Amino acid sequence: MEITEASVRQLVEQVLTSLDGKILRAATGVEPSGGAAGPAVSGVGAGRGVFPDIDAAITAARSAHEELMARTLETRRQMVAAMRQAVQKNLERLADLAVQEAGMGRRQDKVLKNKVAGEMTPGVEDLKPVTFSDDHGLTLVERAPYGVVGSITPSTNPTETIISNAIGMIAAGNSVVFNPHPSAKGVSVFTIDLLNQAIASAGGPANLLCTVAEPTIQSAQRLFEHPEIDLLVVTGGPGVVRAAMKSTKKVIAAGPGNPPCVVDETANLVKAGRDIVNGTGFDNNIVCIDEKEILVVDSIADALKGELVKNGAFELNRSQVDAVTKLVIADAGKPGHEGAPNKEFVGKDPYLIARAIGVEVPRETRILLCEVDGEHPLVWTEQLMPVIPLVRCRDADAAIDLAVACEHGFRHTAVMHSRNIEKLSRMAKVMNCSLFVKNGSAYNGLGFGGAGFTSWTIASPTGDGMTRATTFTRERRCALIDYFRIV
Ligand code: NAD
Repeated sequence: MEITEASVRQLVEQVLTSLDGKILRAATGVEPSGGAAGPAVSGVGAGRGVFPDIDAAITAARSAHEELMARTLETRRQMVAAMRQAVQKNLERLADLAVQEAGMGRRQDKVLKNKVAGEMTPGVEDLKPVTFSDDHGLTLVERAPYGVVGSITPSTNPTETIISNAIGMIAAGNSVVFNPHPSAKGVSVFTIDLLNQAIASAGGPANLLCTVAEPTIQSAQRLFEHPEIDLLVVTGGPGVVRAAMKSTKKVIAAGPGNPPCVVDETANLVKAGRDIVNGTGFDNNIVCIDEKEILVVDSIADALKGELVKNGAFELNRSQVDAVTKLVIADAGKPGHEGAPNKEFVGKDPYLIARAIGVEVPRETRILLCEVDGEHPLVWTEQLMPVIPLVRCRDADAAIDLAVACEHGFRHTAVMHSRNIEKLSRMAKVMNCSLFVKNGSAYNGLGFGGAGFTSWTIASPTGDGMTRATTFTRERRCALIDYFRIV
C-alpha cells in the first residue's frame, strides 16, 4: 500500500470512529473528514485505555490490575495469545502509522520489528516457579507482579516497545500506564487500543493498558512520583534515564547506546560487509542496538569498504563528510561527553540526508559511509541515522580499545567480526555490554537471525539487560517446614 497523507488519514479516521472520538482526535492531532464530533470524553474510560489525564489512567490501571489478579494463569495465556494475533493482523498498518507520524525509519523494517515483538517476546511461560526440597521440608519460589507499571516509551520504536512491554508486563500479571513520546502519540494510542481489544476478546479486564491522550514530559514525571505506580520502566535517551533514576521507586532503565562494530583481519569480509550494511541500515539506524561506528583493522579496510559499497553503502568524500557532520550533529560527542544529533535528520533515508548537503545518491542507498579519524564527532555521538563513520585502526586491540572508549560506558551493545577467538573473547569481556554479537548484524542479538527471545527494552544502566516477563516480577518465597517431601 502506498503511504500518502490521505491513506494515513483514512487509517486514523478508522481509529477515531471505532474509539471514543474526542480524546483520540486530540491524541492523533488528525480531524476526521467532515469534522464530525465524536462521543463525549466521559466515554473514554469505558475500557479502551485512553484517558484525558494521567491520574485517571493510573486509577483505571489499578482497578484493572485488581481484576487481573482474580483471573487464572490460563486466561493470562489466552490474553497474550490474542495480543500476538492482533499484532500479526496489523503489521502493515502499525508500520505505516509509525513512519507517517514520527517521520522516521523504513516501513519494511518496522513490519519486521513489530512481527518479532509480537511473536518472540516471552509470555507466561517465562515465569518459572522454583522448588527446594530437603530434610527441613519444601520451599516454593514464585514470580509475583509488581502491580501497576509506569512505562515511558520512545519515538524511535513506538509500537514495538509498547507491544513487547505489554506482552511481558501483562504475562507477569501487571497492568500498565504508558506515557508514549509525544511525537508518536497517535500510533501509540492505536497500538494500546488494539492490544486492549485483544485482551477483552480473551476474557481479560478492561483498561489493563492505559495511557493519556496528550502525553508530555510532565505526565511522564507524574508517573515517577505517583503513589499508585509500583514499578517504573523507562526506554529512551540519557535525559529520561537520568530523570527516572532520581525517583524513589524501583526503576528499570533502558538507555542510549553507541554500538561499535570492530572488524579484524581474520573476519569473513564478504559476510561482514553484508551484515554491517544490513545492521547499520536497519530502520535507518534508529534502533539503539544498530551498529553506529565501524572500527576496522587498517590492512583490510579497503577490502571491507569494497564489500560495504557492494551491499548498498555510498562513500562520501572528505568535503562531503565535513558538510554532513555539520548538518547532522547538534552537539559534538567526545570523550566524557555523549553529544546529541540534529533531530531533524534522525531516521531519515540516506538519499534525503545526502540531498540536504547537495549530493545526489541512488534512492536505494542504505548508508552514507564516512571515513574519519578516531576523534571525530561522528564516532562519539549516537546519531540514530544512516550516516556511518569508519575508522582505520592499527590492529584488533587498538580497535577494541577505541570501541570501549567511544561506547561511553553505556554497556549497551557491541559487535565484532573476527575468527580469532582470543580477540573475540577480549572484546566480549572489556565491552561489558548487555548485548555482544559475534559475526552477525547487531539486530541478530534481538533474536531474529540469532538464537533467543526478543526484547525492545534493553536495560543496560540498571543491569537488567534484555527485559522479559520475569524482569517485571517480584520474587516471593513460601516455606513449609518439615513436610511435603515425597521421598
Ligand atoms: P527520548 O529520550 O527523547 O524520549 C524517550 C521518552 O522519554 C519519551 O516518551 C519522552 O517523552 C520521555 N522523556 C524525555 N525526557 C524526559 C524527562 N526529562 N522526564 C520524563 N520523560 C522524559 O528518546 P527518543 O528520541 O524517543 O528515543 C531515542 C533514544 O532512546 C536513543 O538514545 C536510544 O538509544 C534510546 N533507546 C534505548 C532503548 C533501549 O532498549 N535501551 C530502546 C529504544 C531507544
